[in-house]
Amino acid sequence: MEDIIRLIRYHAVRNALKYGKAKVGPVVSKVIAERPDLRERVKQIVEEVKRVVDEVNQLSRSRLEELADELGIVEEKRKEEERKWPPLPNAEAYDVIVTRMAPEPNGYPTLGHVKGLLVPFIYARLYKGKFLLRFEDTNPRVEKLEYYDAIRNELGIILEAAEKELGLSPGKWDEEIIESNDIPKMYVYAKKLIEDGNAYVCTCPAPVVRRNRNMGVECEHRDQPVDKNLELWEMMLDGGFKEGEAHLRLKTDMRHPNRTMRDPGIFRVIEHPHPIHGDRFRVYPTYDFSISVEDALTGVTHAHRSKEFEPHVEVQRTILRMLGLRQYEMIQFGRVTVEGIPLSKRYFRPLIASGILSGWDDPRLPTIRGILRRGIDPRALVRFFYDLGPSKADVTISMSAIFAENRRILDPVSPRFMFVPNPIKMVIMEAPKKLEADIPVHPSKPEMGVRRILLESKDGEVEIYISSDDLKQLKEGEELRLWRLANVRVRSIMADEVTAKYVPSTRTDVKILHWVPTSKYTPVKLFRPLSVYSYEIVGGYGEPEMAKLSVGEKVQLVRYGFARVDSIQDGTVSLIFSHE
Ligand SMILES: [Zn+2]
Repeated sequence: MEDIIRLIRYHAVRNALKYGKAKVGPVVSKVIAERPDLRERVKQIVEEVKRVVDEVNQLSRSRLEELADELGIVEEKRKEEERKWPPLPNAEAYDVIVTRMAPEPNGYPTLGHVKGLLVPFIYARLYKGKFLLRFEDTNPRVEKLEYYDAIRNELGIILEAAEKELGLSPGKWDEEIIESNDIPKMYVYAKKLIEDGNAYVCTCPAPVVRRNRNMGVECEHRDQPVDKNLELWEMMLDGGFKEGEAHLRLKTDMRHPNRTMRDPGIFRVIEHPHPIHGDRFRVYPTYDFSISVEDALTGVTHAHRSKEFEPHVEVQRTILRMLGLRQYEMIQFGRVTVEGIPLSKRYFRPLIASGILSGWDDPRLPTIRGILRRGIDPRALVRFFYDLGPSKADVTISMSAIFAENRRILDPVSPRFMFVPNPIKMVIMEAPKKLEADIPVHPSKPEMGVRRILLESKDGEVEIYISSDDLKQLKEGEELRLWRLANVRVRSIMADEVTAKYVPSTRTDVKILHWVPTSKYTPVKLFRPLSVYSYEIVGGYGEPEMAKLSVGEKVQLVRYGFARVDSIQDGTVSLIFSHE
């Protein structure tokens, strides 16, 4: 018996750690799954589980954790985490682990950015290190101030949720860095490369450069003396070249097997005002140069990058070596795409401009903004990407997997309401003087309360609305249950009205319909995203109590699905359908 009690305690503690409180049912099934022979004594086992679960649920959090340690659960959890989140390479070589996310402020963050944010953040917190948010803003033609703010806002929401969901604290970045502020420093490094004979100014037109790189041919500028290069570089900075007329190129090897390594461009002229610096600069570093120098300057020890940049690693390592800058770990991770939904801003921009989409927060969009507006809790995103791990493989995810996480988070807490789409009147005849329905706010959480809807009959008749969507399935003479109100028998079904007779029965093995009183209801407009191009507006009535909802609240429409309150105007509640 003692080992059985130990087994029960083990599962009760695990269950309590996972869900806050242990529950009898899941513990019993775990115990039986491990010891099928106990099935015969299930009654006795249930009694024991009840006793142990009670005991465990009274323990303080710290005592619970101690117990988990004694039972080996902590160790087991650590191993599981390690499997999912393998240790960082060469971590022991650094006193403090520093990671960063380096988004370019060229659009609103989408689902495709969440992994790139969470992977370095999670590692920084697991190693009690530092996490930087760095704006990679050295391509002014596509960058805008509004995008910096959108990134700060959206990433902030996700990191806050990561603290709540994963306990990784603090749920924010430790420092914000604007890369373009360091452009003057980068000029100094550029000059050093020229002086050391490691870079030259090339004035070949772009097609020639491209052809030469493909063919492995060196151009005449490659062997210019250092003085000439310095002079041309000064000309670039002073406005002596127009956009496209001159490039500073790294001098590596024009026949290198990795074509990215064939004298890559590291600075170019861009004649476009920068969102922060205006016309202060006209020469900007390329991605390879700025990322290498910035990672080195800001003390990054582990730089996570999307796998598609892998051929660039060699270029970046070369730049660091030539400049005598500190090397650091570069880690690639796989890209995330969403099944059936493009993630590219280029794709959405015209749809927004033409009004097909209402804006970057349109709930049909895979932008973080759109997803939050649709009613997805940011913790669902965090949990989903945490479980996905930092893997190097490209993955295609489906929205339904994110919806499943969201359901798991919302189901235990979201209030339930009856919603009657496309309403039609039902007259209940021979009704008693008073009909009452006690609607629980949440069926398994009595502590969330009950609301009472009272209907009084007039001349023996009570009127309600039901959904005309239900009509097709109704038959005359059939008994129905009006959810938590009464049973009725259908008398006649007409295009604009259904009549029924009150039945003094509480049978629940009949069809159950949702309803709202005709005397008091809340008009509801429900926006159902169908695809990026399409949607459906469903009109209907909700329970009177829905009038008290406020914008941003998430509800569950009974047997319909989850929705978020988007706006309330003149008593009409506009909802966005999240998912079933
Ligand atoms: Zn050239």
